[in-house]
Amino acid sequence: MEYEEGTIIRVAGPVVEATNMKGAEIYEVVYVGKEGLIGEIIGLKGDRATIQVYEETSGIGPGESVKRTGAPLSLTLGPGLIGQIYDGIQRPLPAIKDVAGDFISRGVSADPIDMDKKWHFVPVASKGSKLTGGDVIGTVQETELIEHRVMVPPGIEGELIEIVAEGDYTVKDTIAKVKSAEGETEIAMLQKWPVRHGRPVKRFLPPEEPLITGQRILDTFFPIAKGGTAAIPGGFGTGKTVTQHQLAKWADADIVVYVGCGERGNEMTEVLTEFPELIDPRTGKPLMMRTILIANTSNMPVAAREASVYTGITLAEYYRDMGYNVALMADSTSRWAEAMREISGRLEEMPGEEGYPAYLASKLAAFYERAGKASISGTEDRISSISVIGAVSPPGGDLSEPVTQNTLRIVKVFWALDTALKERRHFPSINWLRSYSLYLDDVKRWWSANVAEDWFDLRKRAMALLQKEAELQEIVQLVGPDALPPLEQAALEGSRVIREDFLQQNAFHEVDTYCPPKKQYLMLRIMLEFYDQITDAIKKGVSIEKIRKLKSKTDIARMARVPNDEYEKAFADIEMNMRKEIGSLVKEVKE
Ligand code: ADP
Ligand code: MG
Repeated sequence: MEYEEGTIIRVAGPVVEATNMKGAEIYEVVYVGKEGLIGEIIGLKGDRATIQVYEETSGIGPGESVKRTGAPLSLTLGPGLIGQIYDGIQRPLPAIKDVAGDFISRGVSADPIDMDKKWHFVPVASKGSKLTGGDVIGTVQETELIEHRVMVPPGIEGELIEIVAEGDYTVKDTIAKVKSAEGETEIAMLQKWPVRHGRPVKRFLPPEEPLITGQRILDTFFPIAKGGTAAIPGGFGTGKTVTQHQLAKWADADIVVYVGCGERGNEMTEVLTEFPELIDPRTGKPLMMRTILIANTSNMPVAAREASVYTGITLAEYYRDMGYNVALMADSTSRWAEAMREISGRLEEMPGEEGYPAYLASKLAAFYERAGKASISGTEDRISSISVIGAVSPPGGDLSEPVTQNTLRIVKVFWALDTALKERRHFPSINWLRSYSLYLDDVKRWWSANVAEDWFDLRKRAMALLQKEAELQEIVQLVGPDALPPLEQAALEGSRVIREDFLQQNAFHEVDTYCPPKKQYLMLRIMLEFYDQITDAIKKGVSIEKIRKLKSKTDIARMARVPNDEYEKAFADIEMNMRKEIGSLVKEVKE
């Protein structure tokens, strides 16, 4: 369909105003100016449209044309997405080395996925069957790790009247036909979906399985569930990016979508150079075989940054609909909110708190609400999930600012980064007294069924000991450590072991970077046993000086670095030696 062209009357940074736009729709994509820069209509009044432009607008001016497309900002979905690196509006980023620079020429539109490549399609649905949106009609091996399930697009329902034989097809080829009351619909592997709308599910379900990250403080103390939401706020350099990278590498999701949003180019270059080299620990294959990267750095246009978060979550939904557990990391949602603020300012909207638009809270909520465990669309009952983890970078680390506050009202897990811990080089610098997870009760059953019955009790005891430590430390500050009775000094010894050897975890150590759930459990159990035994020894008259000199403490400190295929035997030895060593101290006293 041909539309009449509009005319630019004003350019203000990323925002352009045009007239003669009657009939245009809000969120419609347009091509702006001679170069055909990609933009999106974000305001309409009479025949005037306000357009946010996803590319640098310098050099375009009043009088130039605006071409309508009639379609909202949509993603191209189909095999070939995995392993890609996109900008905020799904344009493929070519050379990794160029990412920190000016790498996409303006007005260029490259296909997000290869339109000519032939994929080997294996039909699974048979002619005559009744199908509905979400039903799988065939599969394609997208990467060695991921089977792409070709689905009936949402909203289509009817009888399968044609399906191609197994063979090689491009994403545009018609591979099936569905007949409904309204007529016949041709189905190809390629689908389009508007980014600002969540893809439908039958219903959302309460999460119950943990997303295992291999990070002890997260899994054991503040777990996120598959389908859950978490935020990791922290000042500059406290460890947001390292934590997000750890999650992208180690979380037991089938698919990872990593949105690098508005951070400095060099930080994103790290992701883009490091990720393609990484090997998936569970499969031994390149991690990129299950990963999609979206990069929108601080030097890239602000409107595309605003869109990047929607692009990421839409990609996540598409793979969720295939039945996969997807995890999405966004670093950082603060830069996303700043993009909203900048655009809102250009629109001269009434500013809310700290200049953010009044709709900041609802936009944040709408984004996180697209996460969840769901009974997905389709005739059969299938369950999958999207977990979302957002980094928040409050200016000066001040958590009272609007983005952090609004985020914390929505998400169910709070990992509180702490500058003081970071300064003490306690990594990850997540404060265990301020963090929380509202999924503890949900994931408890998984841990007791799959790891150990008493997981929850251990965790509770460890947490109580850490809280006691904080109280005792206040007293120590006032009166010095020697004023504490021996039993309380023993509590400090016990909590120190947990704090230093369990909560601390080195992301850059070959073994320590990933700690399996069973190993986490055993470590904590031995540490608490250590505490119980020294308490008992003190009660029986052993001096605190002797407890402080125990060799077992060195053994416990070593546990995190025992290779993940040897720890059960090594831990059993450590436990035995610990009992012997403390036992002999008790014996000495008796004699
Ligand atoms: P942010 O993204 O919050 O600005 P980063 O994630 O880049 O901060 O972390 C800053 C530095 O802190 C890292 O370069 C690293 O040296 C250190 N660091 C953070 N977390 C860890 C960790 N788990 N293990 C080891 N070092 C860490
Ligand atoms: Mg960072």
